[in-house]
Amino acid sequence: MNLVIIGPPGSGKGTQAERIAEHYQLKHFSTGDTFRAAMASNSELGNQLKIIIDKGGLVPDELVNEVIKDAIEKYEGEGLLFDGYPRTQAQAAFLQSILTVDGVISVSVSDEEVVKRISSRYFCPQCSKAYNTVTLPPKQAGKCDVDGARLQQRGDDKPEAVQQRLVEYHAKTEPIIRFYEKAGVKIHSISGEQPIDDVFEDIKQALG
Ligand code: AMP
Repeated sequence: MNLVIIGPPGSGKGTQAERIAEHYQLKHFSTGDTFRAAMASNSELGNQLKIIIDKGGLVPDELVNEVIKDAIEKYEGEGLLFDGYPRTQAQAAFLQSILTVDGVISVSVSDEEVVKRISSRYFCPQCSKAYNTVTLPPKQAGKCDVDGARLQQRGDDKPEAVQQRLVEYHAKTEPIIRFYEKAGVKIHSISGEQPIDDVFEDIKQALG
């Protein structure tokens, strides 16, 4: 089974993806996490990505598709859960050309709620685990539950970047739901404006 999870920034798709992957024994592949790891390494590519990502823009399709091709080769034979990919119609068409997508989970959250949530969002720079000081706080304030590293706020969680990410989401990512509908792929529409456990229950019920 190969699944795609789509949602605006701050919809909790990363958190849900971790749970789905564990429950359904899928490999969780997040393009955002992959790019953040590249940025943390301070490589030339990472520095180029940072310029785009911190402004709230999208990484060029060819580069993203290259990363995806490598991941698909690496995890050949295993079910995959794509988190944050595809984000454009060109990416969706590329994925369709190399793999069968069995379902799309679309998590919806209003723009207002996105802005509210992102201002309380933190992550661990070492293991990428995501936290929210309101809905998913760490056991010890400011420290990762897994490795104790000091939590950080993402560069792209600044208000101007968030506005740009919402613009990109509505203009380029939302329309791919229609692309999948046309391709006959099942869309599971889930409200992301409920407690994390309830969102996950709805996803499990939808996937069966
Ligand atoms: P995410 O963690 O999924 O919100 O991704 C963080 C940032 O990485 C996004 O705001 C984009 O700048 C970039 N990014 C992640 N996935 C993609 C993708 N599929 N296409 C283009 N840019 C991406």
